[in-house]
Amino acid sequence: MSDNQIFRCRKILLDHGWSDDVLLGVDDQGLITSVTVNASKNSAESQVVNLDNVIIPGMPNLHSHAHQRAMAGLGEQASGEEDSFWTWRKAMYHTLAQITPDQLYHIARMLYLEMLRAGYTRVAEFQYLHHDQSGSAYANRAEMTLQCAKAASDVGIGFTVLPVLYRYGGFGAQEPGDAQKRFINDAEGFLEIVSCLERDLQKEMTLGIAPHSLRAVDKNLLQDVLDATDKERVVHIHIAEQMKEVDDCLDWSGQRPVEWLYHQFSPDPKWCLIHATHMDKEETEMIAKSGAIVGLCPTTEANLGDGFFNASEYFAHKGRWGIGSDSQISVSPIEELRWLEYGQRLLTKSRNVLAGREGDTGHTGAELYRQSTLGGAAACGVKAGSLKVGNLADFLVIDDSSPRQTGRSEDDFLDSMVFSGNENPVSAVYVAGKPVIVDKQHSERAQIHERFREAIKQLSQ
Ligand SMILES: [Zn+2]
Repeated sequence: MSDNQIFRCRKILLDHGWSDDVLLGVDDQGLITSVTVNASKNSAESQVVNLDNVIIPGMPNLHSHAHQRAMAGLGEQASGEEDSFWTWRKAMYHTLAQITPDQLYHIARMLYLEMLRAGYTRVAEFQYLHHDQSGSAYANRAEMTLQCAKAASDVGIGFTVLPVLYRYGGFGAQEPGDAQKRFINDAEGFLEIVSCLERDLQKEMTLGIAPHSLRAVDKNLLQDVLDATDKERVVHIHIAEQMKEVDDCLDWSGQRPVEWLYHQFSPDPKWCLIHATHMDKEETEMIAKSGAIVGLCPTTEANLGDGFFNASEYFAHKGRWGIGSDSQISVSPIEELRWLEYGQRLLTKSRNVLAGREGDTGHTGAELYRQSTLGGAAACGVKAGSLKVGNLADFLVIDDSSPRQTGRSEDDFLDSMVFSGNENPVSAVYVAGKPVIVDKQHSERAQIHERFREAIKQLSQ
């Protein structure tokens, strides 16, 4: 296919490393069709978009719950009892009990705009809010999920949608509580949502499925849904986030969550295990060997007091991983990567814990960035995450004139970007070759902010 558009990049991180003066050809589907290194300055000058800056792959966000953006920052007041993930969840359930489809659209649109500005070029939306406030199905069973899809399409972020299968309230098929009534489906109801999405989703969007957690499904239900699902679809599941979850799983089955999952099913590279915070040595090795991706959300995991993921051990087994903004307490790929490494430094009282293994560059920021774009794209079920022929042209333009980046080049540049300073370094964002953020802003910013404020005002009344 011929190039529809050509970008001249002064400096670019390609899949095999850094290059100067590169022409990137992109077709009308947003796919990269050619990469010309050390291009002559006068080639095809008339149709070239000049990007006189540093170009890096956009970051896929592999785990998001859009509705939680409405309460980000509202769980930070001590309640008088011992605050935990479970007391936070009560507050979160209270917020989501009220959200209407229209409010969800405006909340998601604001959130996805924030993601683009921060350098996320795609989001995997793990959507479990299915029914109306009374727990009844909407006329279109995928109503709430489609509101998120519309928000993504309107702001221009790449979208992978993960409708959530949620049936039970705890291990061993416990019945759900009233606060969970907006989530609940049996296999038939869930597969109807999937059918609605197959029919109504825009063709450039990607559809996967998401059994919520081992708490929310049982073996037969999960098996039935997997059997009925196209084998090419990605499968995401929350796993082993909290110690209580591990203990409850042990009480119920005699096995730990990851152990149970791998004994009953065969997670492969199409699977993404969200959090996987609490694993023993065997479980860590099992995931790494299977090629499944671990979805890490370090700011949410810190905010909720989940504990530390044993990243050092997992990385030693060459496990695949990516990052997600999950509860939206922070919407910044840089903060996720920084926290991931800092957590390990604090634990091990050493430095550069997650780089310096065989086959990597030894640059911690650069390695974390590269690995998370690749793992994130795979978890989102798309060809992206590195800039090469056949992949989506999802990329960021990073301003290298800021004082924080002065005198830095290539991998030092990425290390400085990840670890130094708090100014957003992203000056422009391209999704499938289209500019969606220009001069740090989105063209619909004012209107999106205004409608978001209205939605939050309604929810707080
Ligand atoms: Zn989550």
